[in-house]
Amino acid sequence: MNLIDGKVVSETVYADLDRRVAALKGRGLNPGLAVILVGDNPASMSYVAGKEKTCRRLGIHSKKIDLPASTGEASLLKIVGELNTDRSIHGILVQSPLPKGLSETRIFAAIDPAKDVDGFHPVNVGNLVLEQKGFVSCTPLGIVRMLEHYKIPVEGKHAVVIGRSHIVGKPMALLLMQKSKSGNATVTVCHSKSENLKEICETADILIAAIGRAGFVTADFVKKGAVVVDVGINRVSDASREKGYRLVGDVDFDKVKEIASWITPVPGGVGLMTQAMLMSNLVDAAEQAAEKTGK
Ligand code: NDP
Repeated sequence: MNLIDGKVVSETVYADLDRRVAALKGRGLNPGLAVILVGDNPASMSYVAGKEKTCRRLGIHSKKIDLPASTGEASLLKIVGELNTDRSIHGILVQSPLPKGLSETRIFAAIDPAKDVDGFHPVNVGNLVLEQKGFVSCTPLGIVRMLEHYKIPVEGKHAVVIGRSHIVGKPMALLLMQKSKSGNATVTVCHSKSENLKEICETADILIAAIGRAGFVTADFVKKGAVVVDVGINRVSDASREKGYRLVGDVDFDKVKEIASWITPVPGGVGLMTQAMLMSNLVDAAEQAAEKTGK
């Protein structure tokens, strides 16, 4: 078994970003990220804190907008509209999930596609489908980056993605099937209504689990020598930890690592890449803004 180490790969991304941020600053442009957090979901608060910390590390300006869970859609849309025209902001992120009553579809669609560093806007999703330039959802983008880093062959392989969410499963499948060096896989997408899930997974050369169920993928799902990518982040109770819980993936890591050729750990795998690719998208957005303004 070889470990696909999110720490190692994300550091290569940050090293490149350090250089690009310095170049932008030399041209008089400081990249800026606005993060809107509505409500007080503990997991969301922790993700947002992580994003702010990464911005600080890269010397990127970050603006956090905390809103109460009672915020109406019109108020949220107004704030997004203001950020769309704010020239100090190059990326806008509305932390998901939003409280009930707020439509993620409408809110994400209100973000200027040029500042949609999460890659959730319909224009960016359309660009991904059409294999055109645009912002791609950070988690699948980070997975491709990891596979590239370790030179894990994808072309011609059978990739099985468990999960069809808009932010992970679907864009992952699209990236893997793209006509590109890091794509050209034969892709099967499974979900909660899939029949014979285990049998399908057993045929995977590359198995990507994005389900949200702790330890769902057991050793009997995995073909010997398969590449296993675990997207899941699940909290399980653990009285021995100060917080009372620990994070585990969708894959039974200890058993599956005995069979897989390559595997991502949780934590220390895909999650680190999601953060890194968000910053990469932000720096792309800032560079595009610099081009437009002739800086
Ligand atoms: P969603 O809940 O949006 O999607 C989960 C998918 O899993 C759905 O397509 C669902 O099927 C499918 N699914 C659920 N149960 C089963 C089952 N028993 N058999 C087969 N398929 C099933 O989750 P996300 O895609 O947003 O996230 C998935 C996981 O990844 C979560 O643990 C999340 O926390 C984590 N995550 C991690 C990130 C990271 O950076 N590491 C980033 C984003 C998410 P159906 O469509 O039929 O309901």
